[in-house]
Amino acid sequence: MTATLSRSTFTGLRCKECGHPYEASARHVCEDVCFGPLEVVYDYEAIKNRVSRATIEAGPASIWRYREFLPIEGDPIDVGTGFTPLLKAGNLAKRLGLKSLYIKNDGVNMPTLSFKDRVVSVALTRARELGFTTVSCASTGNLANSTAAIAAHAGLDCCVFIPSDLELGKVLGTLIYNPTLMAVHGNYDQVNRLCSEVANTFGWGFVNINLRPYYSEGSKTLGYEVIEQLGWQLPDHIVAPLASGSLFTKIRKGFDEFIKVGLVQEKHVRFSGAQAEGCSPIAQAFEAGRDFITPVKPNTIAKSIAIGNPADGPYAIDIAKKTNGSIAAVSDHEIIEGIKLLAETEGVFTETAGGTTIAVLKKLVEQGKINPDETTVAYITGNGLKTTEAIASSIGEPYLIEAQLDSFKAAWAKAQASHQG
Ligand SMILES: *Cc1c(COP(=O)(O)O)cnc(C)c1O
Ligand SMILES: [Zn+2]
Repeated sequence: MTATLSRSTFTGLRCKECGHPYEASARHVCEDVCFGPLEVVYDYEAIKNRVSRATIEAGPASIWRYREFLPIEGDPIDVGTGFTPLLKAGNLAKRLGLKSLYIKNDGVNMPTLSFKDRVVSVALTRARELGFTTVSCASTGNLANSTAAIAAHAGLDCCVFIPSDLELGKVLGTLIYNPTLMAVHGNYDQVNRLCSEVANTFGWGFVNINLRPYYSEGSKTLGYEVIEQLGWQLPDHIVAPLASGSLFTKIRKGFDEFIKVGLVQEKHVRFSGAQAEGCSPIAQAFEAGRDFITPVKPNTIAKSIAIGNPADGPYAIDIAKKTNGSIAAVSDHEIIEGIKLLAETEGVFTETAGGTTIAVLKKLVEQGKINPDETTVAYITGNGLKTTEAIASSIGEPYLIEAQLDSFKAAWAKAQASHQG
């Protein structure tokens, strides 16, 4: 570790609650003191000395342009993850009554079309550095896709766990990389509990358990990229989906770090979070003014964000409160409408998590909780082609015609009539 450590800018782990230090090994809980979560500690003076806007802009078009802010020592596993488009969403803005709206589109992230590729690229790089040869995870779907794909690329053995009722696209999108896939009878929270036991018994690297401090740092890049893509400026308001709440808290950490090292001017950014009504423990706590989470049993089409007992829920609530943001939930019907709205106005096909974000964005604008003048960024975290069953019965059908001009003309007349109607 010592020979290459000089290249890295992180110095170890620390308990987020009591501050107790730990070495940078595969661990995620403050076992010596308070059982709080651990997080990575950096030498920000060293980062400041090494990094400028120019050095970042000269880096690769991936999350690794920010490598000084990520907890790795040597060469990254680079599968082209990150630097996804920030789309100026003029049509959707007009529809909602906003002046300046952007879509951060991780539905086209590499290699598996969700934001999870960011966290897994970091976690597996660190797993390899720590000497793991088998990697694993408990997943709501997208994480299984990412872990299996990036493990395949890196030549790591892979065994992943999912709830048995996931969408076909998520299951196929894992199996194709030929990992060992365990479909567990139970919801994500039960899968996660099983995985904690496996992690204690098998010497594997679980990206979101014993590697979680490293894994979660990957989400900070969603903060950095938005700053850089807005021309080195912070937005006024962001809306992001909440499952465990990790992504939400790490976007904030990303913003704070760029301010801390002088890459961007300080500004108050409001943070709003999105959940599905069928699994909204964080939104329920926020609305009730509680700072603790009461776990729920998930029942929603937004399976990728269906975590009933979210580990970072209290931290997400704290950020929404401190920044004068909101955390709101929407129904499955509103989620489908959100998917369709984004597709029809901006040409972006997102999965249920993205539909949740768009539906909550719409709701918060209608409730006056997002000001029309605020530059707002909505984080779209996954691709719609993975959850087609969610919308299959809610969209139109093709006109079935014969290969004859008359048949087309008749259908075209019908189509015209229905579009005017
Ligand atoms: C996992 C996931 C999230 C949220 O993850 P957190 O656990 O809150 O970090 C959001 N969107 C999609 C599509 C996901 O797969
Ligand atoms: Zn502690």
